[in-house]
Amino acid sequence: EPLIGVLALQGGVAEHLAALERSGARAIPVRRVEELDAVDGIVLPGGESTTMTRLLDTFELYDPLRARLAEGLPAYGSCAGMIMLASSVDDDRAAAVRPLGALDVVVRRNAFGRQVDSFETDLDFQGVDGPVHAVFIRAPWVDKIGAGVSVLATLPEVPDALGTPDATEREGLAGRIVAVQQGAVLATAFHPELVEGDERVHRCFVRIVRER
Ligand code: GLN
Repeated sequence: EPLIGVLALQGGVAEHLAALERSGARAIPVRRVEELDAVDGIVLPGGESTTMTRLLDTFELYDPLRARLAEGLPAYGSCAGMIMLASSVDDDRAAAVRPLGALDVVVRRNAFGRQVDSFETDLDFQGVDGPVHAVFIRAPWVDKIGAGVSVLATLPEVPDALGTPDATEREGLAGRIVAVQQGAVLATAFHPELVEGDERVHRCFVRIVRER
């Protein structure tokens, strides 16, 4: 079984560890360079990308993680984790986020307006059979992708789950890119680790790690 680390500085660490264990991997929290050195792949969880940036510095993990990613370490980022994997971040507080540049995309933080701040919807996901239930919490979306990046999922429409977007807002949401892959790097704007009993996205990542 591959050994997969979950960056454990803050955010949804336990849920990812559990989902990975259910997906045919051994999973460990990563807080130190020695742990980072030991893993075959890494998950960057959701949380808050400004805080994660600060903690990566505090724990002296920013440069080692960036270096391992540059060498091709397989990585999966959900939500804030997707922001951290990006090559660039586009918003008014972008200066507070120092993304790791493992994925050739521009992401927009907190991209969904206040009214659809958090919501759930079903998505088609490339490589996965049947709809994937996607939970979005103050999520980013992908604004631009580089040549080597494939789109795995886009928003179909946004149901009135938690917010009530008006017609104009709905129009601006449909088709937004919310999951991408570039080589061994996978990212989703949503949180599959929060949907218990469905490990299909984590299994995709475990397969990517195994194939390396
Ligand atoms: N809004 C957060 C950020 O900008 C991401 C939210 C999440 O990970 N659920 O980092």
